[in-house]
Amino acid sequence: MLLGYQARFVLAVVGLAVSQASISSTIEGVRTWSEQGKTRVVLDLSGPADHRLFMLDDPQRIVIDLPNTVLARQFKYGDSSGLVQRIRTGERPDNTSRIVLDVAQSVKSQSFLLPPGADQGHRLVVDLSPASGRRAEIRAPGAGDPRGRDLVIAIDAGHGGKDPGASGKNGVREKEVVMQIARRLAAALEAQPGFRPMLVRNSDAFVSLRERTQRARAAEADFFVSIHADAYRDSSARGATVYVLSEKGASDEAGRRLAQRENDADLIGGVSLADQASDIATVILDITQNAAISASVSAAEAILEGVGSVTRLRKTEVQQAGFVVLKAPDIPSVLIETAYLSNPREEAALRSSDHQAKLARAISDGIVAYFFENPPPGSYLAMHPEVVPRGPMHHSVSRGETLSQIAERYRISLARLISSNKLRNDRIRIGQVLTIPRG
Ligand SMILES: [Zn+2]
Repeated sequence: MLLGYQARFVLAVVGLAVSQASISSTIEGVRTWSEQGKTRVVLDLSGPADHRLFMLDDPQRIVIDLPNTVLARQFKYGDSSGLVQRIRTGERPDNTSRIVLDVAQSVKSQSFLLPPGADQGHRLVVDLSPASGRRAEIRAPGAGDPRGRDLVIAIDAGHGGKDPGASGKNGVREKEVVMQIARRLAAALEAQPGFRPMLVRNSDAFVSLRERTQRARAAEADFFVSIHADAYRDSSARGATVYVLSEKGASDEAGRRLAQRENDADLIGGVSLADQASDIATVILDITQNAAISASVSAAEAILEGVGSVTRLRKTEVQQAGFVVLKAPDIPSVLIETAYLSNPREEAALRSSDHQAKLARAISDGIVAYFFENPPPGSYLAMHPEVVPRGPMHHSVSRGETLSQIAERYRISLARLISSNKLRNDRIRIGQVLTIPRG
């Protein structure tokens, strides 16, 4: 049967090239296993084959196209299992075989080829897992709390314990000031409707980088913000910097996490994931992470705006970096270098409670602004569009913004925005800091 191509693509996964693309191969059959909510599908092949895997909607299904292959005359269909409700096959005139897996819910997939093993031939393995895991089940809109869930913001004070971080000439230590700013940030977020801050560390304790993201995951954090202060040998270096995870970093971490998962899950159905080429795995994982990375960038821009209204910025753009602590690809994450402790003036400012409070409020403003604009489904913010942030916020005008856009963004009237800033008209300039009234 020839299957239609007209359906909408929801996810395109990169085609995986193998060395002998022209060799035709027979697909002998398909086998399935399910374990712990995951399903593994294995296509038995007479030789290596290219494949292309993508997902289609309505009904949800995964399509695997294998060019230059034929289906065996006695093709062995596996049973439906776990996430796979039905297996269908088709052949196209250009010698592309198509395998369709009907799935009951949206799934994530990983696919890779395995060379012949002890008593098995070439195989194409497709691993399926629920698209958003546990979180989606608990947090599906309307499924649980009619009030909507609070957004969990993981606040990570950098360093701690035996790791003091940077220090200034006058004795200010990074691990101490960032803890103070983190606590102030938690207090600021606590005051906002729909937010629940959690401190990744709340004492002068050493916490490994890996453990930090694990704690955030365990709390089902919606956002991860790591707070630091910089040092540089040149004491004139100054200003704050906001970072998000770079894709390079994501790839490395993705590879590492995948490796770990492979070892944990080890085997479903007798084939080890360890056989696969790691770059294939990272390409696929990169795709799944893009959403979290782009959310990170948007949130980081909002934070940068807030921070820029209270302190000098070293870089006026969000920076990308591969910090280990940021490598939690399923949680949008931002790292803030609040200032340079190696700069005596910034060291003095960072120790002052007034400046700490301003910074904390600015970071909070950025996070709050981001989530009011992008409320996740099922969240309190999404389910209560009438709610506005509490307390005055500040907005630093960026290029191309208009007053009415800003008013809309903060869910207030244009008239109120004008009057609370004592503006004579609706003209604003880039960098101008506006007070956003509340309540
Ligand atoms: Zn640091």
